[in-house]
Amino acid sequence: MKEEDIRKRDVLNRYLELVGEDCEIFFRDRAGYAKSACPACASGSATHQFEKNGFEYARCSQCRTLFVRNRPPYDKLVDFYTASRSTAFWIRDFFMPMAEARRQAIFRPRADYIASRFGADPGWLIGDIGAGFGLFLEEMRASWPRCRYVAIEPSPEQAGICSKAGLTAECSTIEALRGYDARFDLLTAYELLEHLFDLRQFTEAVFRLLKPGGWFFMTTLNGEGFDIQVLWEKAKAVTPPHHLNFLNPESLEQMLVRAGFEVAEMETPGKLDWDIVEGMIRHEGTDPGRFWTLLAQQGTVEGKRGFQEWLSRNRLSSHMRVLARKPL
Ligand SMILES: [Zn+2]
Repeated sequence: MKEEDIRKRDVLNRYLELVGEDCEIFFRDRAGYAKSACPACASGSATHQFEKNGFEYARCSQCRTLFVRNRPPYDKLVDFYTASRSTAFWIRDFFMPMAEARRQAIFRPRADYIASRFGADPGWLIGDIGAGFGLFLEEMRASWPRCRYVAIEPSPEQAGICSKAGLTAECSTIEALRGYDARFDLLTAYELLEHLFDLRQFTEAVFRLLKPGGWFFMTTLNGEGFDIQVLWEKAKAVTPPHHLNFLNPESLEQMLVRAGFEVAEMETPGKLDWDIVEGMIRHEGTDPGRFWTLLAQQGTVEGKRGFQEWLSRNRLSSHMRVLARKPL
C-alpha cells in the first residue's frame, strides 16, 4: 500500500492549512489552558518537545507518551469538531472521495483479520466507537451476517448515514452511552485514541460496556514509530488539536492493564512509515538526515519494502494495533 492510495498529498496539505487557520479562530485564549498530566499514566513529569499551531507537545518522563500538554477544554474541542471549516473539508473533500478506496485498503482487511482471528460467525453484539460512515461495520457484517452491529458515533450527520446503511446507530460518545452495560462481545475503535481528551474515562467506559470475556480491538498512532520519530514536529500526523495523544506499545499496554484489561496482542502492522518519509523528502523538500535521504534516492524497491517489514515486525511502525480482553 502507498500513502497516495488512501489520501492525496495536495488535499491533505490544504486540510492542514485550514486546521491551522481554525486554531486561530477556535482556540484564541489557549495561553490560559492548564498544563495537563500524562494522559496515559497520569505522571506530572514531562519534558517540552516543540510547539505546533500554538499547542505544546511534551514527552512523559515515565512512559514516554508524547502529548499536547496545554489541552483545550472538552467543550472547545466539541465546538471545533462540529463547527470548523476544516472538519467540513475533511468530510467532503478528504474522506468522501477516498471512502471506497479506504474501504478496500483499510476496513476490509480489518474485518478479515477479526474473522480469521475468531473463526465462524459467533452471533455477537459488536460496537464500533467513532463509527464514522459505518464502513468497518458494513464490512464486518459481510463476513459475519448473524452478528448485531451498533455504530456509536457522536456526529448526527454520520450517525444518520450509518442508520441508512441498516446499522443500529447510537448518536453518542462512548462515555455517555447508556443501556449497554456489560452487553458487548466486541468493541472496536480505529484511529480514535489519539483524539481523546480523557483516556481514563474512555477506557473505563469500554471496560464497563464489555461483557466479562468481551474483546476490545483498536488501532492508534505509535509516537515511537518510524515516521513520527524521524519527522517529529514536521510529521503531518502530529497535528493539534486533532492528535493530542501518541502512546507507544509499552504505555498503551500499561494503560489497558491498569484499566483491568488483559492484553492478548500488541503489534505495529503499519505499512506506510517509509512511504511517508520518502514522500516528504521527494515532494516537500524535507531533510530528515543524510542516511534517510540516501535511502530515498538510492535504495531499491525491495530494500525499502524489506525495511518497512522490519519496522512492522519490531514494533517500530507508527501504526499500532491492540487486542485486549475484559477478564472472564
Ligand atoms: Zn506517562
